[in-house]
Amino acid sequence: AKQSGRNRYSFFTAELEARSARTLHIANALRRALEREQFALHYQPQLDTHTKAVIGAEALIRWYHPELGQVSPAEFIPIAESTGLIIGIGDWVMRTAAQDMRRWLDMGITLRTVSVNLSPLQFQHHHLPEQVARNLAHARLPAKHLMLELTESAAVDDPAAAIAMLDRLNRQGVRIALDDFGTGYSSLSYLKRFQIHKLKIDQSFVRDLEQDANDRAIIVAIIHIAKALGMDTLAEGVESEAQLDFLQAQGCNFVQGYLFSRPLPAPQFEALLLACTPA
Ligand code: C2E
Ligand code: CA
Ligand code: CA
Ligand code: CA
Repeated sequence: AKQSGRNRYSFFTAELEARSARTLHIANALRRALEREQFALHYQPQLDTHTKAVIGAEALIRWYHPELGQVSPAEFIPIAESTGLIIGIGDWVMRTAAQDMRRWLDMGITLRTVSVNLSPLQFQHHHLPEQVARNLAHARLPAKHLMLELTESAAVDDPAAAIAMLDRLNRQGVRIALDDFGTGYSSLSYLKRFQIHKLKIDQSFVRDLEQDANDRAIIVAIIHIAKALGMDTLAEGVESEAQLDFLQAQGCNFVQGYLFSRPLPAPQFEALLLACTPA
């Protein structure tokens, strides 16, 4: 037993060392990724649940590294956060998404918003409003066309600071969505004080809604809370007609998911939108 305990210990040590070697490799490669233009944004359409019109797009970052290959944002964003690199990467994401949105509007593609994901570190950075203003001005994009997606964790550390930041952003005219809603710790008493336009119902509630009555109950409750507080709802991860039917019947305003489209490179996203824009 003693022997196997030691083996198990050294097995875990080796695994940890391997993991931290990859983490270090990613951290170093991330430092050069911006200047080497290894990032791209893919866009996933967001649809009006009733009209099925595409009303917006969520920008999702993609990274291709020559040695590491395609690295998932679920893996590298936490590393970018812990190294502080997320500030520069996040600025690139916002600038690029604003420029793409400007081009689409100029092409006659009428979207309401382009959404970008903000990490908690970006949201807590007191220069965020200046950064937003600079990127909007650079792209000549009116603020109402930019939606910032933040998670509850960005706001729970310091709710008073979050309320002040949301106030500054709202006065600028940008829109705010609360991402992954229902998975974090934000208390409902804060929710009423947050100036937020949209709650994004996390895909973990959508995935099994056909089988799971609890998931359905939670979705219905979120939609009711949002309505009572004057917020829109968007369900993410919609993959089936049955899920769409349920969300539609419950009054969820917007949907996003593989049922409609995967996230697409900008040229494919444009082609899709041009195909459904009346000439
Ligand atoms: P998220 O913001 O919750 O984004 C939704 C994720 O679900 C995306 O994964 C998207 O591709 C995926 N997805 C969309 N529709 C479906 C569906 O129907 N079924 C399933 N199973 N998945 C679907 P992705 O692109 O791998 O991004 C993962 C996470 O990485 C994002 O979660 C977000 O937290 C983070 N992320 C992505 N891009 C950025 C960025 O530019 N900045 C920051 N800070 N975080 C980002
Ligand atoms: Ca998101
Ligand atoms: Ca989400
Ligand atoms: Ca998520």
